[in-house]
Amino acid sequence: MVIRLHSNVSDATAKDRFVALGLEHSSVAAGLWEVNADLSIWKPKQILEQLSQLGEVSKISSKTPLLDALDGQQAVKVAVPGRSSPILFQNFSNPVWIAGPCSLDPSNPLKETAKTLKDAGVQVLRGGAVKPRTSPHEFQGMGREGYQLLSSVAHENGLAAISEALSEDDVSEAIEFLDIIQIGARNMQNFALLKKLGRSGKPVLLKRNAGASLKEWAAAAEYLLAEGNKNIILCERGVRGLERELRYTLDLAGAAFMQHRYGLPVIIDPSHATGTKQILEACTAGSLAMGFAGVMLETHPKPTEARSDALQALTTDRFLEIAKKLLK
Ligand code: PEP
Ligand code: MN
Repeated sequence: MVIRLHSNVSDATAKDRFVALGLEHSSVAAGLWEVNADLSIWKPKQILEQLSQLGEVSKISSKTPLLDALDGQQAVKVAVPGRSSPILFQNFSNPVWIAGPCSLDPSNPLKETAKTLKDAGVQVLRGGAVKPRTSPHEFQGMGREGYQLLSSVAHENGLAAISEALSEDDVSEAIEFLDIIQIGARNMQNFALLKKLGRSGKPVLLKRNAGASLKEWAAAAEYLLAEGNKNIILCERGVRGLERELRYTLDLAGAAFMQHRYGLPVIIDPSHATGTKQILEACTAGSLAMGFAGVMLETHPKPTEARSDALQALTTDRFLEIAKKLLK
């Protein structure tokens, strides 16, 4: 990050300080410096504090100044109708478990699923109503009526409801019924959608696009912040690497970097990242050990009948086995 500093100390004093802090620097004119802070060493907030002791910080090259200014571990509180205390998403705190089917389907007994998941300690019920599918010939979801179905079943059980808003057209109904609105991987850079959800102030789960760098993911979060919405939960769901055995590559290090750098709550979605139900327990255990704010897993009472992502869905029984071991 390049910072321009109008110093109010002598050039010699400023130089000594840069050297002591190990900062690359160059003099633009007398009393005017350009300092390059290596963000793998410095947190933006810390470096800005140090430099403002020497004068006025006048230019920052960062594309994410609002995100950079966040201080420490952020918490997102999700209020749920009928539940006395909000659900807290925070790194290095009690992780939140999100579970449920990939897509809602009126023939799927969601009520039983919700009750079972709730008893196992899950706090958020998921289910896609409008689905981003690779092919237009695949099941596109039951439609926005699903938002109301999901939220009524979730709230009856004291759970929060999360579902994806696929386009700007979905936003008003999503806000009305859901407690957390998911921005799917394919929409991470749908800036109009980000702005609209930013203005809503609702908790947003921002999934990382499979081809997005960490900087691009951060800049997408900046869009929400720029509209005044701080209720941002990041979700790592796998990136496209060289691997072909698994659906994507689960970038736990990238997720840890976002957790460390910005302090926004980060959750992990091993279901989409791996596409492979046999390794979900291991990936969930690893994610929990790294202090992420939560995990999201897809479950289905009869995975063979699931209308999307059937191969990666855990049966409810298998999910319960995993939860018994890992959900505290
Ligand atoms: C989903 O959560 O069902 C989904 C479509 O996720 P992603 O956007 O990560 O592919
Ligand atoms: Mn899915």
